[in-house]
Amino acid sequence: MKYHIETEMVHGVHQSDPHTGALSMPIYQTSTFIFENSEQGARRFKGEEDGYIYSRLGNPNTTVLGEKIARLEGYEAGMCTGSGMAAVANVIFATARAGDHIVVDDTVYGGTHYLIEDEIRNIGIEITRVDASRSEQVKKAMKPNTKMVLIETPANPTLKLIDIAAIAQIAHQGNALLAVDNTFLTPYLQQPRDFGADIVIHSATKYIGGHGDVVAGIVVGPKDFIKKAFKIATHYGWTMAPFNAWLLLRGLKTMALRVERSDSNALKIAQWLEKHPAIEQVYYPFLKSHPQFDLAKRQQKSGGGIIAFEMKGGYKAGKALMDAVNLCTLAVSLGDCDTLIQHPASMTHAGMSEQAMKEAYITLGLVRLAVGIEHSDDLIADLDKSMKNL
Ligand code: PLP
Repeated sequence: MKYHIETEMVHGVHQSDPHTGALSMPIYQTSTFIFENSEQGARRFKGEEDGYIYSRLGNPNTTVLGEKIARLEGYEAGMCTGSGMAAVANVIFATARAGDHIVVDDTVYGGTHYLIEDEIRNIGIEITRVDASRSEQVKKAMKPNTKMVLIETPANPTLKLIDIAAIAQIAHQGNALLAVDNTFLTPYLQQPRDFGADIVIHSATKYIGGHGDVVAGIVVGPKDFIKKAFKIATHYGWTMAPFNAWLLLRGLKTMALRVERSDSNALKIAQWLEKHPAIEQVYYPFLKSHPQFDLAKRQQKSGGGIIAFEMKGGYKAGKALMDAVNLCTLAVSLGDCDTLIQHPASMTHAGMSEQAMKEAYITLGLVRLAVGIEHSDDLIADLDKSMKNL
């Protein structure tokens, strides 16, 4: 039986320990597993018997986590990786080989961008970067050897949305898969499967963990795909450690509450920012001023916890805001209990030329706020005081 998603996050795949009755799943902090005899060892290696062998090849904590996220996202199977980037790499390697082609949105996470430009191109996989919010560009980019379209929605830096259903249709017409990085919204706020996505990727570092204490990734999709992808992960050795899986299973139990709070805080702050005289523009999918507000309503349960805004005072004001805030914490990442703020032009993109920043859609006054679960009045007061002192 399937319950509401909030209940599934707490219960879902069974985590309690049948041997001891422990409510919280034990951490199977072991590198290897004992065989009863040589016959059993042989059966396990030949795949004739289910069971664990060695933690790089599988561990109870990672098995349960993969199954749980797959269930929440509505897929058959899931697997865990050592980071969100390993999850992205894993999906690419499981989909394309040298001579194949993939289409990638031009505003994917910076790490994904560099993985593609610095590594994937060099191994002979052809890449076309497009603005996937304009589906005609995806259509035009499709080739007979296209194996996958890879998108994120909402996407950095301006929270551009991509119409998942429209892109799924184009990908499928070309016999390609659609992979969606759903890190920003989690299955609680958006389920790409409902709109035709074949594979979903997460940086579990973010909302799934939720406490800023683990780096991890997850891939979910059809059983055959995950089987193939998992084999690749065991070869490269980027599978997840059991303790990290345990932290994520714990984080998952409170994810609905955390996401709800950060989401309602974000909407209040976005509405407040829109009226602030120091702000030129606010980007947030559930503001009526967002150019894709209708798509946001269709595709997302709510706006999510990430806001971007453009300061009227440009680079100087953005940088000064970073040094003025107290409660908002100056750090990259998102999806934590703590509100994190960053100014890409003076921080993450500081080493880039103006042209490269332009290509990444980073403007000089752009600020990203990853809203946490504090009280919204305190966050607004911190931003208000800090903006007065610029
Ligand atoms: N995908 C998105 C949307 C991200 O924001 C990030 C990291 O910020 C990643 C993937 C990479 O995840 P990780 O840092 O866990 O490797």
